[in-house]
Amino acid sequence: MFKADVLSIGAHAGDAEIASGIALANAVNSGKKVAICHLTLGEKGHPNMSPQKYAELKHEEAAAAAETLGAQLYILGYLDGELPENDDVKKAIADVIRDCKPDVIITHHAKSIHKDHAICHRNVLDAIFYAALKSFVTDREPHFARHLYFAENWEDKEGFIPEIILEVTNADIELWKRTAQCYSLFRGEVVNFPYIEYYEKLARLRGIENYVPYAVTFAVPPAARKRRVTSLL
Ligand SMILES: [Zn+2]
Repeated sequence: MFKADVLSIGAHAGDAEIASGIALANAVNSGKKVAICHLTLGEKGHPNMSPQKYAELKHEEAAAAAETLGAQLYILGYLDGELPENDDVKKAIADVIRDCKPDVIITHHAKSIHKDHAICHRNVLDAIFYAALKSFVTDREPHFARHLYFAENWEDKEGFIPEIILEVTNADIELWKRTAQCYSLFRGEVVNFPYIEYYEKLARLRGIENYVPYAVTFAVPPAARKRRVTSLL
């Protein structure tokens, strides 16, 4: 049975790989197992291709990206731009969590310019609760994912505070680039935004700020900021 160390959950196919992919590559290069879950395919984001055609392409690209990274892939298939916030979605995500049993979950920060991202964030918070709840009975065992992190994403900047700094390596960046390049969106063939350049330079910037070559940063839930210590020294 597959057991993930890290599960990254994104609103649209590509979100998990672009915003948390360097951290996932770092986990893979450290011998850890990773999984990716896309709530929608992001099929309405192409200026010329029909949503149906683009959904097929995004599906293939997501599969290729997961294979390149060596990740277990889940696609839940909700509609792009219409991701609901309800118990069906939360329980479907809880099922994924119970299936791959991650210790760490990464998802979107709370505030975003994209409503699907903010809704994904809120669905994931409750899904973690459902996945751990013994009285929520499914054909899978309950599982509590102990650590939750919110990835740094250009669309989810409002109120984002980089609280956790993860040092990453050149090898992590290279594996992540090969993964991201599986998407035509990130190769610059869909919209005019230099995704890979942006996130590579962001990793260098975060590295400079933290006295290491490269780093990626995460925000954490408010409760995770509070720490019990036995001494201030
Ligand atoms: Zn997105």
